[in-house]
Amino acid sequence: MPLLSCSEALQTIASKMQALSTLPATETITLGQAHGRVLAQAVSADRDQPPFPRSPRDGYALRAADAGSPLALLGGIRAGEQWAGKPLEQGETIEAMTGAPVPSGADAVVMLEHVAADAATVTLQPGRSAKAGENIVPQGAEAHAGDLLLQPGTRLGPAEIALLASVGAANVTVFARPAVAILSTGDELVAVDETPGPMQIRNSNAHGLAAMVEMIGGEPHILPIAADTREALHAAIAAARGAQMLLLSGGVSAGKYDFVEDALLALGAEFYFTGVAIQPGKPAVFGRIPADGTHDEQWVFGLPGNPVSTQVTALLFAMPMLRALGGEGAGASGERTAPGSFFAEARLSEAVEVRPGLTRFLPALLLSSLAGATVRPTGWQGSGDLNANARANCYLVVPPEASRMEQGAAATVLLR
Ligand code: AMP
Ligand code: MG
Repeated sequence: MPLLSCSEALQTIASKMQALSTLPATETITLGQAHGRVLAQAVSADRDQPPFPRSPRDGYALRAADAGSPLALLGGIRAGEQWAGKPLEQGETIEAMTGAPVPSGADAVVMLEHVAADAATVTLQPGRSAKAGENIVPQGAEAHAGDLLLQPGTRLGPAEIALLASVGAANVTVFARPAVAILSTGDELVAVDETPGPMQIRNSNAHGLAAMVEMIGGEPHILPIAADTREALHAAIAAARGAQMLLLSGGVSAGKYDFVEDALLALGAEFYFTGVAIQPGKPAVFGRIPADGTHDEQWVFGLPGNPVSTQVTALLFAMPMLRALGGEGAGASGERTAPGSFFAEARLSEAVEVRPGLTRFLPALLLSSLAGATVRPTGWQGSGDLNANARANCYLVVPPEASRMEQGAAATVLLR
């Protein structure tokens, strides 16, 4: 299979996401459990928002045309109250605090700061005037009863949670979390709670991947380490068959002991790519094991075992797919939007030189402030350098044609 460019690989995955024909199962949970989940229902406004013409300021309700003369103060209302007196007439004003309904008869609210007031009379400060509609949010200006507020497929963050609460959604229906099997391969690996022999390596990839999966809303299942034999891999991969996604780390670089593709083929897997022109992560594999009588289809990512390669390829390729499998982008009409990785732009705070030919993802530090964002590579010993990876907070993307990027140039970063 030919090596794909990075954008071809991303496009390949996106087309598989758009072609997903089934949605995950759903479950109903309380709003308090909903953060980070993906909405499976459409949510509409249960009433007009705001439900009454709202004063967004502490101030005085009046008729804008009267603003030039002293006004008789009839009283005041606070949020939650309604003016119980007679409707406001010419030459009159009623104090209305933030969130209070504007009394009928008034067509503007003048801010407290812009008037001189005593117990009986309110006069606008010299030079101040009022416009009809000023400081009144009309009933239904934000949404009308029945308006669609949130589509199925929306990931619920703080903004969405607050909106759900405002329409009384104490319970919400969300998509089930996709199960992700995480299988680390390698004769040299030992579990985190074992003491490694002098030439052995702790299985760090499985734990990094599990954290990433959790962050994206999947349900990680770390499987026992598989040895580099065809038999061990075949058994381990078959045992992972119940999960919607399989993340394999190691054993995809066509080395002598790399039986991963072989074991997948035995289960009828088809491959969409078996290498991408990126560094780190060039041997990355993407494929699918079709549904059989017992199991649904399973999306498979073979991630190179070097720890930074594993993280970059999982972040770039597997996590968007996981978001789609979790129902993100499902939409109301059945048409699916492919979730993508999170990229941003920043200025290079130092020049960067690389050999051209591959899209590079260099561990880098993004510093951002009100003034903008700068980025610089952390420096690293290569794709095994977990230390540099942890000092970084993003990956600087160096396009394949670049051999040098100048200090101050705009650069793309992959956020994590
Ligand atoms: P591989 O992709 O299997 O050829 O492995 C490439 C490098 O990554 C080797 O140095 C492995 O020891 C290391 N490696 C493979 N799997 C893991 C893992 N699960 N955790 C930490 N390092 C790993
Ligand atoms: Mg290996």
